Amino acid sequence: MSVAKSSSATATTSIADGPYRGRFAPSPSGPLHFGSLVAAAGSFLDARAHGGEWLVRIEDLDPPRERPGAADSILQTLELFALDWDGPVLRQSERAAFYAAALEQLRSLHATRRCDCSRTQLKALPRNRTRPPGEELFHPPVCLAPEAGRPRPAAERFRVPAGPVEFVDRSLGALTSDVAQEVGDFVLQRRDGHFAYQLAVVVDDASQGITDVVRGADLLSSTARQILVQRCLGLPQPRYLHLPLAVRADGAKLSKSTDAPGIARSPPATQAWRALAFLGQRPPPELEGAAPREVWAWGVAHWNPVMFAGIRSHDVAGWSPTAPDRQRDPQ
Ligand SMILES: [Zn+2]
Repeated sequence: MSVAKSSSATATTSIADGPYRGRFAPSPSGPLHFGSLVAAAGSFLDARAHGGEWLVRIEDLDPPRERPGAADSILQTLELFALDWDGPVLRQSERAAFYAAALEQLRSLHATRRCDCSRTQLKALPRNRTRPPGEELFHPPVCLAPEAGRPRPAAERFRVPAGPVEFVDRSLGALTSDVAQEVGDFVLQRRDGHFAYQLAVVVDDASQGITDVVRGADLLSSTARQILVQRCLGLPQPRYLHLPLAVRADGAKLSKSTDAPGIARSPPATQAWRALAFLGQRPPPELEGAAPREVWAWGVAHWNPVMFAGIRSHDVAGWSPTAPDRQRDPQ
């Protein structure tokens, strides 16, 4: 799924207005690793530097993928790092009624379709064979012929309009993504009844009054889908700031199972300092041994997203603000 530079992005939707309100929205599939700390720190610092609120939402929509105790562990880690959030923690597992109401609204607008295609059928399509695990499978414009055999409950998908979706990212600039071509009609409610991330995140961002979505660039490819749902529901569009993704030297994403222990072993102040440095900020060396709260105070006072503008990912081990190998968008 590609999100390309656009030369003509224009905003056709109302942009969220009002006092800055940001959020950090981890899924409880494991403890936080350094990449999640970067995402938490970036959204926290951007909110506080704007004098805004910073909320935490647990995206526990997918019980089979959740690890028992992971949500509590994430909250404890945030506390340990002095990343103090505002208000109550929102848990998506308690919000099914809101997602159902939004789905009903989309249905009334004829913006959904029932889909009987099985995952096996979709995975067999040539363009899905090379799709990385975890990415939404492409769905063709017409559903595939139903498989013989047992009837089963259908999934419900968003009817994607033809044409590119253009939006502006504060770091990456004007971007365009052709959802119809790249993903096709995407899932809103799975056949097992669980609501999909793309629907839930739109509903929650709107109901929490989120003005600014600051998150890792691994979610960049979801943004156009979320904008389509926002537009259809008549919801304001938040501003977007996608942070460089922390990857390993071989380009692989950090994982919660293999990369999380590191964050637990190192002193929080060191990790906080490293998260700031990863984001291109230049905290003074003597701050590395300070309490996390002091590190963040420096970070808020000196927060400058221009330092990572245009960068989608970077090797977590080799980071230096002047390193030449950053994956930077062509200007
Ligand atoms: Zn289908």
